[in-house]
Amino acid sequence: MTQDNLTAVLYKPKDLRLEQTPIPEIDEDEVLLRMDCVGICGSDVHYWQTGACGAFVMHEPMIMGHEASGVVAKVSPYKNNALFAGAVAREVDIRGIFRYVNEYPIALSMVASGQINVKPLVSHHYSLEETLEAYEVARRGLGIKVMIHVQPRDANNPQS
Ligand SMILES: [Zn+2]
Repeated sequence: MTQDNLTAVLYKPKDLRLEQTPIPEIDEDEVLLRMDCVGICGSDVHYWQTGACGAFVMHEPMIMGHEASGVVAKVSPYKNNALFAGAVAREVDIRGIFRYVNEYPIALSMVASGQINVKPLVSHHYSLEETLEAYEVARRGLGIKVMIHVQPRDANNPQS
């Protein structure tokens, strides 16, 4: 696995930096995900502009990106389970989600079955190196959904 782990870190309001961070070690009940893409939402823009979102106020540098998807890159040797091996993770922060807990399975099945096509909602695509530009587009409300692609550009990651 590459040691490249370019990360968007918010140090204080309006001070968002891209920097290398260590790739975390996993515990026996965890998996390591290789990020594929991350959406920017209003919460991210609030954090970036004010250092807070609702009742949550940042007190130390914070890694940005809670609407992420990725693939499983590493599984603990103690819990090496075939179930995890081919798994694709979506909404990796699902453990902390409370509002949409019952909607995720329904929404995922509708997207997976082709009942709905959400691709046209992604109005802007950026590479990780273009993170600040992506945040500015989201802040100005210039798109519907702004997506940052961590992996190299391909058919799902066109130049915007
Ligand atoms: Zn969000």
